[in-house]
Amino acid sequence: MKSVTYLDNNATTELAPEVLEVMVPLLRDGYGNPSSVYALGRQAAKVLEDARAHVSALAGCRGDEIIFTSCGTESINTAVQSALALDPDKKHIITTAVEHSATIKLCEYLAQRGYEITWLPVDSAGLLSLDQLAAAIRTDTALVTLLWANNETGVLFPVHEIAEIVRKKKTLLHVDAVQAFGKLPISLADSGIHFLSASGHKIHAAKGVGALYVNRRVKFTPLLRGSQESGRRGGTQNLASIAGFGKAAELAAEHIGSRQVLDWRNAFEEHMLTAVPGCTVNGDRTHRLPNTSNLSFDGVESEGALILLDEEGLCCSAGSACTSGSIHPSHVLKAMGFSNERARASLRFSFGRYNSQGDLARACELIPAVVAKLRALSPAGSPVMAA
Ligand code: PLP
Repeated sequence: MKSVTYLDNNATTELAPEVLEVMVPLLRDGYGNPSSVYALGRQAAKVLEDARAHVSALAGCRGDEIIFTSCGTESINTAVQSALALDPDKKHIITTAVEHSATIKLCEYLAQRGYEITWLPVDSAGLLSLDQLAAAIRTDTALVTLLWANNETGVLFPVHEIAEIVRKKKTLLHVDAVQAFGKLPISLADSGIHFLSASGHKIHAAKGVGALYVNRRVKFTPLLRGSQESGRRGGTQNLASIAGFGKAAELAAEHIGSRQVLDWRNAFEEHMLTAVPGCTVNGDRTHRLPNTSNLSFDGVESEGALILLDEEGLCCSAGSACTSGSIHPSHVLKAMGFSNERARASLRFSFGRYNSQGDLARACELIPAVVAKLRALSPAGSPVMAA
């Protein structure tokens, strides 16, 4: 099989070898139920609590503030419905126009159930107006729910400033930190954030495991009722995956200060900007995840680029999705005010710590060649759009 140059770490990540080492013996021998009282169960319970300690250390919170879930999407759904359950008379939710589909679909559903949703806009750099946020909060606002780091552009929202605004207005704040968790230092203690969602498979753990932080002072209502997770999330815990998540969190904490991924991303971006005419970075370049680069290539359809890059073994993402034969430009780039053409000409490259200098060199060679090939084939015959 042709070797893969994997630049899609915001979609998912490969399993860390250390995570696999933790998981395999548990899948084989550690089948005890953490709720059982005999030794096999008690050992499982110890594994569970060790994992919780590592995940809570990475989040900068107490162990009893972490609930294990099945994924980021479950964490988001749980946080939002818990916040809404607190006061059924509060029927207003604030979110943003650039959220992950997990939040968008949930809010659209809630809108059908009688909730009013305020979708805050972003500017051309993907940033929010905090004044607009403050002005949007009303006495009947049940919750503000928004991203920490955008999965498509990597743009960061200033969640600590947002928490301060939300605190003054006495409402609740949920942060979707699925992309930020493990990539940025996080300290939730006294942060003013009430709920925070994270996911294992974005930090080199397995798919099917997530975490929800719930501040201990918040009255919590479970989504899945049952006795596990102190009655906060029913269902026998996915022990091997949770243990792997704990290991992944421990490893992420060790790597969080490293500049390696940032250096690769910056070198990649500088190369693209100089080697490819009509290449633009999408999103604010200062307030951004260290691993993400979202680029537009004038005159190029991202779907075509994805196919040619895939033929060469390079994995990345287009912000657009092809459904029923039509390509929908990314809602994130559209919310930033981009034309359909520019949004459709965009690709996301996201680095991770298992990339190499070789991956960087290969991407720097391959992408300009693919862009040039597509431009040569384009009916307009002109590579770069008029200014
Ligand atoms: N939120 C963001 C920002 C994401 O990027 C993702 C996954 O891509 C999710 C939520 C959903 O996480 P999961 O795949 O664990 O359900």
